[in-house]
Amino acid sequence: MKDEKEISIVWFRRDLRLEDHSALYAAKLMNLPVICLFIFDEDIINELPPNDARVNFIYDNLQEMNQKLVQHQSTFLVKKGKPLAVWEELLSIYSIKYVFAAEDYEPYAIQRDNAVQILLQSKEISFSAVKDQVIFHKDEVVKGDGKPYTVFTPFKNKWLQHFEEDMAKEQSASGIQYYSISTSFPSRADLGIERSKIQMQPYQLENLDHYDQERDFPAKDAGSYLSPHLRFGTVSIRQLVKKALDTNAVFLSELIWREFFMQILWHFPRVVNESFRPAYDQIPWRNNEKEFELWCKGETGYPMVDAGMRQLNKTGYMHNRVRMVTASFLCKHLLIDWRWGEAYFAKKLLDYDLSANNGNWQWAAGTGCDAAPYFRVFNPSEQIKKFDPELKYIRKWVKDLDELTYPQPMVDHRMARERAIATYKEALQNKA
Ligand code: FAD
Repeated sequence: MKDEKEISIVWFRRDLRLEDHSALYAAKLMNLPVICLFIFDEDIINELPPNDARVNFIYDNLQEMNQKLVQHQSTFLVKKGKPLAVWEELLSIYSIKYVFAAEDYEPYAIQRDNAVQILLQSKEISFSAVKDQVIFHKDEVVKGDGKPYTVFTPFKNKWLQHFEEDMAKEQSASGIQYYSISTSFPSRADLGIERSKIQMQPYQLENLDHYDQERDFPAKDAGSYLSPHLRFGTVSIRQLVKKALDTNAVFLSELIWREFFMQILWHFPRVVNESFRPAYDQIPWRNNEKEFELWCKGETGYPMVDAGMRQLNKTGYMHNRVRMVTASFLCKHLLIDWRWGEAYFAKKLLDYDLSANNGNWQWAAGTGCDAAPYFRVFNPSEQIKKFDPELKYIRKWVKDLDELTYPQPMVDHRMARERAIATYKEALQNKA
């Protein structure tokens, strides 16, 4: 029988926290009891192994939030299925008046939300998607003529100009009334989730004082490890921006890079499949599968590339500098399509985020906006001299570095560099 009590539903997706939460805050203002909902979307998780670390991270966070809701005599409503079908089911159970969710800017999410909105509106239920994962979205930071920025520095300058302290104000959900529902929180087995051996690292904001001097050196491990937390919204961007403003301008700049790539994806969704610069889709990639496999396994014979790929395979994380080196090596030294590397990172990275991954891969391949020029080819050995001269990072991940079995470089650097430049140049000339 349908529950007659009017309620609001907050649909959680990549905003897995109960504090400083825009959608909860918006729901609170409606003064109706609130159900917190999460849907394990079968269109997404059926493509992943049952022990995927990211799915486990989501589950752990839902469990943690559920414990807090229990103190409010409520339960987190967790469903598995196709979103539209789940919503059809909920409509038959609850008298829903309002639905709130945090906006998501990825093409698949936009399509999903449009479909749900149409369904809800047909039942006269309001669906509001509110800004939560960024400070500025959509057209809020654009050029004077209204066109999107495609170069980072002017985007950042405009971002800083527009920013006001108010924008980082907490969206507090305190005082919200959660609805008591007679449903139990599902076990991992109910959802078909198996435990992962890979654990998400907690983020750390203690050593931001040295962030700008140390972040480029992988052995110093000076990154914040925030990326998976930002990806799944277990931390609020507003709190981080406040912290960054107080501590470190370079760190703030990195958070703005994140927003830069998000707005690129929003304005140019074609980048999901195409090079941002169309001419670069003329490059005749070599796409040698055996070479790709050596890169994936970290057996290229280039120690920094191998260390990065082994770190990724083992932990789901790779240091930013090393991501640049491994990505450049794949595209330039091996002339393998950036989309292959992007897909491999998407499978492995705990912090996988479509906009950041795509933007950075296109940057490394030279095909993107504000990208490294095509004739700049990272020299993996020079990168070691600059960023890991004592081989501390490399030795941590490449245990067989001194063994006879450690592979010889799979390709000669000088030859590969010249080949890459000539191939890019010819493709771009032909296009012109
Ligand atoms: P910190 O150095 O502490 O930076 C703080 C935060 O700023 C990060 O958590 C992240 O949200 C943001 N940030 C930092 N650098 C970048 C950047 N270049 N682009 C966008 N945001 C940035 N980052 C992802 O979050 N998801 C990805 O899928 C992803 N794929 C990448 C692929 C390649 C080829 C490269 C070169 C970089 C990629 N990055 C990606 C960006 C960057 O490497 C990671 O954000 C960073 O290494 C995460 O570690 P951290 O949280 O300790 O970063």
